[in-house]
Amino acid sequence: MALLEVRNINVYYGDMQALWDVSFDVDEGELVALVGSNGAGKTTTLRAISGILRPRSGTIKFKGIDLTEMKPHEIVESGVAHIPEGRQLFPKLTVLENLKAAAYTKRARERFNESLDFVFRLFPILRERSSQLAGTLSGGERQMLAIARGLMLNPELLMLDEPSLGLAPKLVQEIFKTVKELKDEGLTILLVEQNVHQALALADRGYVLETGRIVLHGTGKELLENPRIKTAYLGM
Ligand code: ATP
Repeated sequence: MALLEVRNINVYYGDMQALWDVSFDVDEGELVALVGSNGAGKTTTLRAISGILRPRSGTIKFKGIDLTEMKPHEIVESGVAHIPEGRQLFPKLTVLENLKAAAYTKRARERFNESLDFVFRLFPILRERSSQLAGTLSGGERQMLAIARGLMLNPELLMLDEPSLGLAPKLVQEIFKTVKELKDEGLTILLVEQNVHQALALADRGYVLETGRIVLHGTGKELLENPRIKTAYLGM
């Protein structure tokens, strides 16, 4: 049994269907990339897993339990952390206050000290800036804080939505390095990216979404070598 099993989900915004029979798996310890262009349905997929959107049909199982009947906070408590696109932080709170505020679940509070040590080890700059207001951080530091806030939830599955978006190339490299470190720590990761090349180079497996449907899947390496991917996403 996979850690996360998404089976034939159909998701709508009102009358508009955004996902069509989307199915995929994430095994424990795996890094799976969900790639595709703008508007393909990547964010919608993550919202469905987090319980923000409810599929009209299909199932989403995490550790064998169906998430589609659960409320978003129950899903977080079960071990799923979703780091949304756009680094949603409290700009008027300090870095440390942001981290404390993120650890609001029972599951997170039980391991607060260990999680804080972990994120400060992963991002030493956040320790240095712990009493600085989050709104004064650079773009790269804000993204690190957003990831750190997700990690404070003590997740078993970390879902990252476009962590590299809007960052300068050097910072993009740093964020991908961080994702690799998290994988090496044994965390299971579902990574949504428009940066198809980098995401597939790092991922164990990948799925390609086009207009709400999964059109291809394979190992990261297979997808990187796939002629259709090369033409459509890698500009070759
Ligand atoms: P992006 O990287 O731009 O977020 P994406 O692959 O994550 O792209 P989604 O944001 O999931 O794509 O969008 C999938 C489809 O659903 C698009 O057609 C989009 O216009 C539509 N959509 C997304 N959010 C909403 C919403 N809140 N209300 C109505 N339609 C939406």
